[in-house]
Amino acid sequence: MRWVRFEQHGQRSVGYLADGTVQPVAAASLQDVMAGNGVQPAGDPVALTAATLVAPLRPGKVIAVGLNYMDHCREQNVKPPEKPILFPKFPTSVIGPQQSIHWPPDFSSQVDYEAELAVVIGKVTRGVSEENALEHVFGYTNANDVSARDVQFSDGQWLRGKASDTFCPLGPAIVTRDEVPDPQALPIKCRVNGTTLQDSNTKEMIFPVRFLLSFISRAITLEPGDVILTGTPHGVGVFRDPKVFLTPGDRVDVEIGDFGILTNPIGPAGV
Ligand code: MG
Repeated sequence: MRWVRFEQHGQRSVGYLADGTVQPVAAASLQDVMAGNGVQPAGDPVALTAATLVAPLRPGKVIAVGLNYMDHCREQNVKPPEKPILFPKFPTSVIGPQQSIHWPPDFSSQVDYEAELAVVIGKVTRGVSEENALEHVFGYTNANDVSARDVQFSDGQWLRGKASDTFCPLGPAIVTRDEVPDPQALPIKCRVNGTTLQDSNTKEMIFPVRFLLSFISRAITLEPGDVILTGTPHGVGVFRDPKVFLTPGDRVDVEIGDFGILTNPIGPAGV
């Protein structure tokens, strides 16, 4: 199934995609759906053209992994890390499809894209083994780990450069785990203004999803609705020659497997 949140006539609802429509359900959030509450159809299907999709959930924690693709290490000539590099993003960083990524002009002049597989946790997860880890996944979606490189590299840590408002586009839908038999065999792409700048496969991950969930949950309890961003492949703007940074008027697409396309325009500050 493919779960979404959408707005129609000023009202926000949860639903699932079905034959070009969204079937609303009674649940008020994806976390309700994960708990099995309100998952029956409630009301008539809504044409996708009449529904404005928003971020498929408001996460609890967003934990991101840096330097997790072999091809991304090669492009910057660094050794693969010996253990996952973790950093947070925030629920306030999250936006949905078609919503604009924006920042104050005096904040950064080097805002970059990072296509990433997002893992949505479905159950309380503490100390899970690698073998059982994927049973704790509710589903997967596209993410963009938007990164202000000048801020990221000059602050001494990555928080402000990566956890700013609008810097975590997610969606359009959460694809449930049963539709993703192997999260390490998914094509992953990013396009800027229609030009493909990242083109790789999740098999390039250094630490696969099952390892990440086991590693993280040894120290940090994961809860339903928490999201893990699993790192980006090669092709980011800062390591290109010439460098590519995002500016107002640009459009970024992230596309993983058959998850659908996550498109976000770059807006002027404050939009
Ligand atoms: Mg990243």
